[in-house]
Order: sequence, then C-alpha cells, then structure tokens
Amino acid sequence: MEGYIKFKPHWTAAPALPYEQIEEINRWRTEVYRLGLIGAYPDGIGYGNISVRLDAGGRFLISGSATGDLPELDARHYCVVQSADPERNTVVCEGPVVASSESMSHAAIYGECPEVCAVIHAHHRELWRRLLHRIPTARAEVTYGSPEMAGEIVRLLRETDLRRTKIFVTAGHEEGIFAFGASLEEATWRLRDEIKHIFLE
Ligand SMILES: [Zn+2]
Repeated sequence: MEGYIKFKPHWTAAPALPYEQIEEINRWRTEVYRLGLIGAYPDGIGYGNISVRLDAGGRFLISGSATGDLPELDARHYCVVQSADPERNTVVCEGPVVASSESMSHAAIYGECPEVCAVIHAHHRELWRRLLHRIPTARAEVTYGSPEMAGEIVRLLRETDLRRTKIFVTAGHEEGIFAFGASLEEATWRLRDEIKHIFLE
C-alpha cells in the first residue's frame, strides 16, 4: 500500500532543518498519530502524512516517506518539497529523507487553493466507510500518489463543495482520507470533528 513512491523524486540530500522550524508541524503530527489517523498496519507498513505550506509559491514541508509507523518524529523525518509537476510526474524535494509518496496530492491542493496552509492524509477504516460517496470522493480507478490523483483532486476542488468542506476520501485507496485547512489546527480539527460524529451516534 503506502510507501511505494509513484513519482520520480528529484531528491537532494540535505541536513535536517533546525528543530524550531519543524516544531509546530511535529506537534500536530503527534496529535494526529495519537488519534490513530497516522500509524501502521499489523504488517508494519506505515500510513499517513502531514504537510505545511512554507510560502505562496507552493513550497511545503512534509513528513518523509515511510515514517507513518513511528510514534514520534524529529527533524530528520521531514523534507521540503520545492515543486511538483504532475505532467512530468516529478517531485523536487530536499532534506534528510525523501518526501512522502503522497506529495503530489498535497501539492495539487496547495496549487489550487492559495488559502490552504496545511494538508493531512490519514487512514481510518470506519470513518472512510461512512464518508465514502457521501462527501467528495476521488474515483476508484485513480491510484494514490499518481499524477491522475492530482488531477482528480483539482476536479473535486472545482466541481464539488470540497473547497469549503475541506475533507475528501479516496475510493481507490482504501481507508484514505484527506483534510486540509488554513492552519494545521484547522486541518486536524476537520478530522477530529468527523471522528467525533462516530462516537455521538
Ligand atoms: Zn494512504
């Protein structure tokens, strides 16, 4: 499932960023991990990733590939995505790890929505089942992390109320959920709010 990089990463190895620069994203990442939305399956394969916008040009900081299983991350587990090009299927990134395999999807959201500053890709079986085809849903034939997924996300942002509701699921990527917002807090809250409904019913 997760961990297979579909795009061609143009990765430049670079030292970890100073801790102050990853402190906020890391705090929210730990929170999302505790909610079970980032984590690992019994076979050890990790899932979920988180990013935060760095500038208006679309650069963003994202958790690294295959880090979902780790309860706590540090600066060595984050990298900067400089640019993503779905047409060429390339992601240019720099840091101590390769960018998450979902980087192209995160980039699609930042590129389409200047107001969005944080994106979370989570997995949650029950939430996914409940939300599938009830909220904006990426078509089943679109595989995760692909240029087609980037195009599908842009389609949802333009053709549905997703830009306002800030959460969608992926039919072809089981348990996959994306939430976003103007801040890491808002993106996390968006997921939390949906989980809350499960327990209220
Ligand atoms: Zn996933």
